[in-house]
Amino acid sequence: MSIYRELGIEPIINASGSVTRLGGAVMPPEVVQAYVDAAQATVPLEHLQALASKRISEATGTDAGIVTTGAAAALTLGTAAILAGLDAGKMERLPHTDGMKNEFIIAREQRSGYDHAVRAAGARLVEVGFNEIIANAGVRRTEVWEYEAAITEKTAGIVYVYSTGSRPNLADLVRMAHVNDIPVLVDAAGELPPCENLKAIPATRADVIAFSGGKSIRGPQSTGILCGRKDLITSAALQMLDMDDHPELWTPPEEFIPVSKLTGMPRHGFCRSMKVAKEQIVSLLKALELFTSGAYLPLVPKYRERLLAIAAALSNHPVSCELIEKGDEESPPSLEIRLDESRLQQTAFDICRGLRGGSPAIYVGHGKLPQKTLVLIPTCIRDEQWTTLTKRLSDALTP
Ligand SMILES: *Cc1c(COP(=O)(O)O)cnc(C)c1O
Repeated sequence: MSIYRELGIEPIINASGSVTRLGGAVMPPEVVQAYVDAAQATVPLEHLQALASKRISEATGTDAGIVTTGAAAALTLGTAAILAGLDAGKMERLPHTDGMKNEFIIAREQRSGYDHAVRAAGARLVEVGFNEIIANAGVRRTEVWEYEAAITEKTAGIVYVYSTGSRPNLADLVRMAHVNDIPVLVDAAGELPPCENLKAIPATRADVIAFSGGKSIRGPQSTGILCGRKDLITSAALQMLDMDDHPELWTPPEEFIPVSKLTGMPRHGFCRSMKVAKEQIVSLLKALELFTSGAYLPLVPKYRERLLAIAAALSNHPVSCELIEKGDEESPPSLEIRLDESRLQQTAFDICRGLRGGSPAIYVGHGKLPQKTLVLIPTCIRDEQWTTLTKRLSDALTP
């Protein structure tokens, strides 16, 4: 960690998980080694991505896949692929889509800041459904018929944000979409673990799916995966890869980029600005191998034990602690610390601010501060930091 100090910045204690704001996951040593090895030689990237495609298709049960610079970039690439297909002329035009099929239907309840990733490629979002539950104005979620009713001759695709509770059911939506010849792009960025989601989400027959590489897979922060239908992955690859070669010499792997199916040799595409480094591809593949082989599973009981030790250390403080488990053996537990703000004479926001302001700074999960609750997510806490974390929490939570 001394490289950060050398630069003049102190590493934090990250009890907030692999969030982007704090630099994503901590890479396991094997992944770091793969990165270091890959950085010391060069290979043609279209051949490397073709190899990655095989690994990703095995891991996800899809026809093909590429490594991207994150799930958000994967969403942009997936959108660009749906908009342009294998048409080199359309690839050239993106993100300008006037006169093309350019509408993507999205449930109003699934809109978020990640919409930028889809709109960036030139898509126009068309909203369906309502946010009635949040508005406390009803009990229903978005339904399949609402998407179907919104399909017009301008519809290019449907974009869907996957989570355990998302509605409507993705497989039902895909069935309707395919009857209408409309592809479905899925944001599944943070839906791992469980590992089975790598296959279960594509098994809905959704056309292209985005996963994050820098969250639970523990690859480099700016990596992701786009997987799905072969022609769409080919289109995405073409729009991201560097295309500066002579057509006479250009011989990409045929099963990955079937040159005969293209209308011409594309130039640099719209997603050239999202280029992936060889080191990122190689180390993400190593991380994917570790994740899918269960190498991270032994960490779960260790996290549980350490969080329970923190709960025990806080047993005489004006807080109540609850260990939150998803009920599977893969998902890391978290610890929710609910504060008695009146006895502490501080709000959860005050405590959180104080922890961030200390040395080293401590960042706890901040999603439940309005409910007077700090959340400890263990995945990015380094072994040697637990003692300090326990002591600092104990001090901060003493009235
Ligand atoms: C994290 C996340 C993303 C972005 O993933 P990156 O790999 O950081 O680009 C997109 N959508 C959702 C729902 C996410 O949670």
